Amino acid sequence: MSSCLFCSIAAGTIPSDQVFSDDSFVAFRDIDPKAPTHILVIPRRHVPGLDHLESADVELVGRLLVTAAGIAASEGLTERGYRFVINCGEDGGQTVGHLHLHILGGRSLAWPPG
Ligand code: 5GP
Ligand code: ZN
Repeated sequence: MSSCLFCSIAAGTIPSDQVFSDDSFVAFRDIDPKAPTHILVIPRRHVPGLDHLESADVELVGRLLVTAAGIAASEGLTERGYRFVINCGEDGGQTVGHLHLHILGGRSLAWPPG
């Protein structure tokens, strides 16, 4: 989708501080970080959000988690811990309509979220 910000980042037509890329996923640093480490992991395929996932996407979602955990490890977050967040819809705080997983780490994170 040419009009989608994260599709454009995945395609490289909008620049990003990329930390990982393979055939299925791209990961890059959030432009407005909420923690010392704040990385977004996205599928290259345009999926609008969690509410658009289908049973055929089970493998994609599983690999998204495994890929993100590997990135967290390579960022040195494993020992102290980290958090994955996927916001969905208006109440969930989703602002970009392309599925993305936040990796947050490098500080103690409060619970519950605001
Ligand atoms: P959401 O609120 O949808 O869960 O998360 C969207 C995230 O995308 C936000 O944390 C926001 O800072 C980040 N973001 C928005 N526009 C850009 C951009 O152009 N580049 C990067 N790297 N991050 C962005
Ligand atoms: Zn997209």
